[in-house]
Amino acid sequence: MVYNFAAGPAMLPIPVMQRVQEEFLNWKNMGISVIEISHRSKEFEALVDETDQLFRQVTGLPDNYEILYCHGGAQMQFSMVPMNLIHRKPGKKALYVETGNFAKIARVEAEKFGNIKVVATGVANNYASIPSLEGVELDEDASYLYLTSNNTLFGTRWDSFPDTGEIPLVVDATSEILGRRMDYSKFGVLFAGTQKNLGPSGLAMVVARKDLIGHALADCPKLMDYAVYQKEHSMANTPNTFAIYMIRLVLEWLRDIGGVDFIEQQNAAKAKLLYDYLDSTDFYRATALPGSRSHMNVCFHLPSEELLQTFVKEAEKQGLYALKGHRMVGGARASLYNAMPIEGVQALVNFMREFARTRG
Ligand SMILES: *Cc1c(COP(=O)(O)O)cnc(C)c1O
Repeated sequence: MVYNFAAGPAMLPIPVMQRVQEEFLNWKNMGISVIEISHRSKEFEALVDETDQLFRQVTGLPDNYEILYCHGGAQMQFSMVPMNLIHRKPGKKALYVETGNFAKIARVEAEKFGNIKVVATGVANNYASIPSLEGVELDEDASYLYLTSNNTLFGTRWDSFPDTGEIPLVVDATSEILGRRMDYSKFGVLFAGTQKNLGPSGLAMVVARKDLIGHALADCPKLMDYAVYQKEHSMANTPNTFAIYMIRLVLEWLRDIGGVDFIEQQNAAKAKLLYDYLDSTDFYRATALPGSRSHMNVCFHLPSEELLQTFVKEAEKQGLYALKGHRMVGGARASLYNAMPIEGVQALVNFMREFARTRG
């Protein structure tokens, strides 16, 4: 038994993987694979409709939001967001909150397209907590405010989202989409690369309020324009059909085990198990501060680089895969996405306790 703690591409639900394997050569009794049929066939169009419906069902997405399957993963949205939104207002202004590396990359990319203002940053404490927006004046003429809901490298998350009034809130939810309940009516645009809680890599699922679509730069490339994805139901050209097929199965799995309400509780229990242990020992130290701690990516340090290397190696020997942290943060990281069962976290805590006892 291997538990995969990789940050992304990440572990997917075993029942979903089994189903893919079972029906790979013969999908819907067609005698061929889902990846061999036309994206314009009625069968595939039905599959995309079902995927949309399942997403709406499990998230409660309001009707005035469009679901788009965009090429290029999460980081393509770092470009598409400003290309589609920044020209809504004459000042071409957007506000960014820097809570980690991905937020920073997004901000640097957006600077190519308009006037970017960083309204808060967590850099002072190396992104160990989410900076507060309390008392921060938000420019009313900004086209949008951008934040990263869960910071995959630094293991922090927004416990609750700021009220941005009339300014559309744009959220990169790549590493926690479907991991907790969210009120989508608060967002202008929410996007997620698909390789963490949704399926295989290469696509982004984008949820956009309809009135925010159709404002792209005049010279925006066709396949970067949200309006094209909306008009063509994400099939202006051939999308990653296999990824959409798997997302559909993941959504169905999530619905059948109890939906987002259930998984949110499960994720909270998993995170608590690990943070409670981390807080009870001096051997390990959690990097994220209470109040900002991610339920998806738990980052922690060991007493030395040498012990870290041994820790990662020995964990892997015991079936606890990919615990090395990101090089920008150092230490270890356990990603506990929706597909990780609580038994995996228990196995990790047991291993950590034993490791600390014998090496501490
Ligand atoms: C993984 C991740 C990304 C990068 O995703 P790509 O699909 O590789 O571009 C961006 N943002 C967040 C928050 C992530 O976790």
